[in-house]
Amino acid sequence: MKRIPKRTTVTAALPYANGPIHIGHLAGCYLPADIYVRYLRMRGRDVAFICGSDEHGMAITVKARKEGTTPQAVVDTYHALMGKAFRDFGISFDVYSRTSSAKHHEVAQGFFKNLYDKGVFEARETLQYFDPEAQQFLADRTIVGTCPKCENEEAYGDQCEKCGSTLSPTELINPRSTLSGAAPELRPTTNWFLPLDALAPKIRSYIDAHSDWKPTVYGQCKSWLDAGDGLQARSMTRDLDWGVPVPVEGAEGKVLYVWFDAPLGYITATQELFGADWEKWWKDEDTDIVHFIGKDNIVFHCIIFPAILMEHGGYQLPAEVPANEFLNLEGRKLSTSKNWAVWLHEYLEDFPGKQDELRYVLCATMPESKDNDFTWSDFQTRVNSELVAVMGNLVNRVMVLNYKYYGGIAPAIRSLVTNDDQLVLEAIGAQRAAVESALEAYRFRDALSEAMQLARLGNKYLADQEPWKLVKVDAERTETVMAVATQVVAALGTLLEPFLPTSAEKIRRMMGISEANWSALDGSVLVSAGHPLGASELLFDKVEDEAVERQRAKLAERATLVVAEVAAEGVTPVAALDPLKAEVAFDQFAALDLRVARIVAAERVPKADKLLKLTVDSGLDVRTVLSGIAEHFAPEEVVGKDVLLLANLAPRVMRGVTSEGMLLMAEDPATGRLDFVAPGAGMPVGATVR
Ligand SMILES: [Zn+2]
Repeated sequence: MKRIPKRTTVTAALPYANGPIHIGHLAGCYLPADIYVRYLRMRGRDVAFICGSDEHGMAITVKARKEGTTPQAVVDTYHALMGKAFRDFGISFDVYSRTSSAKHHEVAQGFFKNLYDKGVFEARETLQYFDPEAQQFLADRTIVGTCPKCENEEAYGDQCEKCGSTLSPTELINPRSTLSGAAPELRPTTNWFLPLDALAPKIRSYIDAHSDWKPTVYGQCKSWLDAGDGLQARSMTRDLDWGVPVPVEGAEGKVLYVWFDAPLGYITATQELFGADWEKWWKDEDTDIVHFIGKDNIVFHCIIFPAILMEHGGYQLPAEVPANEFLNLEGRKLSTSKNWAVWLHEYLEDFPGKQDELRYVLCATMPESKDNDFTWSDFQTRVNSELVAVMGNLVNRVMVLNYKYYGGIAPAIRSLVTNDDQLVLEAIGAQRAAVESALEAYRFRDALSEAMQLARLGNKYLADQEPWKLVKVDAERTETVMAVATQVVAALGTLLEPFLPTSAEKIRRMMGISEANWSALDGSVLVSAGHPLGASELLFDKVEDEAVERQRAKLAERATLVVAEVAAEGVTPVAALDPLKAEVAFDQFAALDLRVARIVAAERVPKADKLLKLTVDSGLDVRTVLSGIAEHFAPEEVVGKDVLLLANLAPRVMRGVTSEGMLLMAEDPATGRLDFVAPGAGMPVGATVR
């Protein structure tokens, strides 16, 4: 059983103020944090939900330079846009601060001065890359080059996004300035380093005490500690003019490293929220600090920030860091700079009022333990077949029948409660418990699915009891059935609150309940007989094919633009195409039996969202082939198509069906769209490909 802390300080990674918020940010960190916080509040726990914009760092200056404006103007724009997006999606921060505030500069400088006075830092004169055209030192995102570990040619000066390695600019092969494109030259400069190498034993014992963290988080920390060269000292200052000035003598023209100041932004924001009463949220032993982040921030939250707090002293160290993996979009990595994203503010323009639909789909597909993919067809399927068909249907039926039979007054449990009634009433408490244990373990997908399970049970109960038939023969029994179903709907008005706050509130309004009450999901009567219900409201409506098509078209257009832009810059769009595979001998190719074949029948495979079961005429025989194209094609779209079949692939059993062969598909690198590789017209079925 997990210890229950006296209070919990929940932070969500400070979003970087150089672009709007997209679905990957939401799914990676803000949505799970919000669900968790809403849940803690429902349990009556003392919780503070802290966030703000991260407004320093090289990328801001790069963007300002590109747009011919000031860094302050850039962060002002995005701070406002991000804050609005969070509010619109119900992300219920208690405070949303920003790191360019005077207050934050004071806090960050105080921390630096504290460590400096204790002699924690090592001042080192090093050779750093200097851009002779832009007349400034380069670091982090102002310098790119080839990663020494994975040969990615676009690795940044602080990190390779492809292999995840942390880097320093001098490790890059063929470095170049992103400010001017010039080849930089090395010049001497003094900076202050946090000696992570010397602090490694302390950091190791902290990490070792948290072997219960998510395997991905704990594993990443261990791999840094155990790497051949171990932890390396890292510079906590930068030669730059945008940021928190380094508050010591001889540091003119230098600012704090953005990853020194950004996590301290959590502390600044807490001070803004609580005033003089802030300290217990960071210093009491009874406080748990929980950082929600994406996996690219693990090193900063699990190693560097704790090291800073340890050396300062007096602070609690992060208790939990439930980092998520990445969400992809239609098979490709989300990217702010490449505009490959679903932006929250644009989503709301296209789907006004449908915040909960996106929260639902992102929670149901959250990249908790591995990267996951968001596709518009999955969005449509989940909204239509889960939110509309299950949740919306149950609530709507209960409202319609309660108005029809009882004039909108809650019915009473009259006749003896049968076993079926009892089971569905008990499910309220059981599903609450299941949601709780999943959320306590940061398993958000499971938690949502357990909450939905109550709606499924409610639907099944109504379908089994058929009150619309029963009402003609047994009024008393009908009233009991409707009263039980009404309790289930009322319970959903609370159980869904952490996940779908807008819809949960609508349900409560329909039930005439003013507030969510988690502890009442224990078998208490949630809506008393005779209680007036509210007016019916629409919960969810169907996402039509055209809406999904429009979103796909929008992405396809952007992908084309990106490729065109990259081509105009004279660089091969390597990111868009798979690299060339290793050479094969002719014999290896000749061993493949490829044939022209025709799809003669197609059907979906139950419980397999991605698979179509195809009946294929190969000319030699008629066989079954399972193909992972159900998200791209409806069965009726593929029947009659002539395709290329790999006919001598070893049979494979999937979902209890034997698949004999494989159809050749091409994948559009820009959109992830799949299509068949088709033979020329008139080529007979059974013809060999050579
Ligand atoms: Zn790399």
